Amino acid sequence: MKDRKLLMIPGPVEFTPEVMQAMGMPTTSHLAPNFIEVFGQALERLRDVFLCPAGQPFVVAGSGSLAMDMAAANLVEVGDAALVVNTGYFSDRFGAILERYGAQVTHVRAAAVGGAPTLEEVEAALNAGRYKLMTITHVDTSTAVVADVKGLAALGRKYGTLVVVDGVCSVAGEALRQEEWGVDLVLTASQKALGTPPGLALVMAGPRALEAFRRRSTPVGCYYADWTNWLPIMEAYEARKPAYYGTPPVNLIWALNVSLGQILEEGMEPRCARHRRLSNAFKAAMGALGLKQVPLSPELAATTLTAVYYPEGVDGGALLGYIGAAGVILAGGLHPEIRTRYFRIGHMGAVSPSDILVTVGAIERGLAQAGYSFEAGVGLAAAQAALIR
Ligand SMILES: *Cc1c(COP(=O)(O)O)cnc(C)c1O
Repeated sequence: MKDRKLLMIPGPVEFTPEVMQAMGMPTTSHLAPNFIEVFGQALERLRDVFLCPAGQPFVVAGSGSLAMDMAAANLVEVGDAALVVNTGYFSDRFGAILERYGAQVTHVRAAAVGGAPTLEEVEAALNAGRYKLMTITHVDTSTAVVADVKGLAALGRKYGTLVVVDGVCSVAGEALRQEEWGVDLVLTASQKALGTPPGLALVMAGPRALEAFRRRSTPVGCYYADWTNWLPIMEAYEARKPAYYGTPPVNLIWALNVSLGQILEEGMEPRCARHRRLSNAFKAAMGALGLKQVPLSPELAATTLTAVYYPEGVDGGALLGYIGAAGVILAGGLHPEIRTRYFRIGHMGAVSPSDILVTVGAIERGLAQAGYSFEAGVGLAAAQAALIR
């Protein structure tokens, strides 16, 4: 029997064979003409993926947290006020990073885990203070709650606040039109919906974000993340010229460029529609199995992942073990208030309808082993019906 397991966690995700092939190529010099061409092309393609024609992309070795750090380090000066639209664990992390650079941070929190602050609540906060920037976690991977980036960004514009979006679990999966929606900075990481192995931090800075960086009166507090060091490098690669600051992860950038090509070939709208269709099918299956989701309403539920409470009386650790043995790796909980009570399924990137059915099938077999009583196949039938519809 084949023993390869399907990885259905919210990052890293399953990658296409072409992307993995790029990872295994002989590593070239970071100054080799063919690598310069690939890096330059990847930077150009990122503007199309972020839908930000006037943006400045930054691609550096690091994880998504470094991308958050880079945004905060370059935009915040000591004493700046920042508003965090808080939908969970990763919003808390952004608050902590901003504070590390000296920001005065105010959180507008969801009333309950699985909720999101309303536009009215965020506007009241913006009205009560003068914020240099606000952060939004597009999809908080701890709750699977999706934020209304379009509506929130419009508020940011109205109040003259820089709008920064943590799109680590959304870019190239969830609809996000950076420039059209007036978002000043979007950041992500390679291993989620961008479909490239972990190791790249990506930032797309719009004109107002770069302007705020240029107007700083104090140096950036993190040497590695400082755009002063990275901007000339990104500009050089795009101009197809050699430049060096820190050695780029050559194979990862090669793989990123392959993945970006595949993403753009699929098209941003069809890609988001595919994520929505597969997410709806998966969520229908969970509903049919009688499992409750963490987001408090369907409108708050992300399409890149699903967060589901364990059924009453089922041991979560054991269940994930059974599902793993049935061939699918899922993730446990992350939000500190409910960590042991729920699990998470990532369905982003190259995910297919068949992956959804395999995952639902493994969950059903795991639930049966865990002693949960349900009619075998109801989840599969619901997912299949949604996929066929
Ligand atoms: C995964 C994730 C991060 C952190 O990314 P790392 O690559 O693990 O550092 C930040 N924000 C969100 C929304 C995420 O999903």
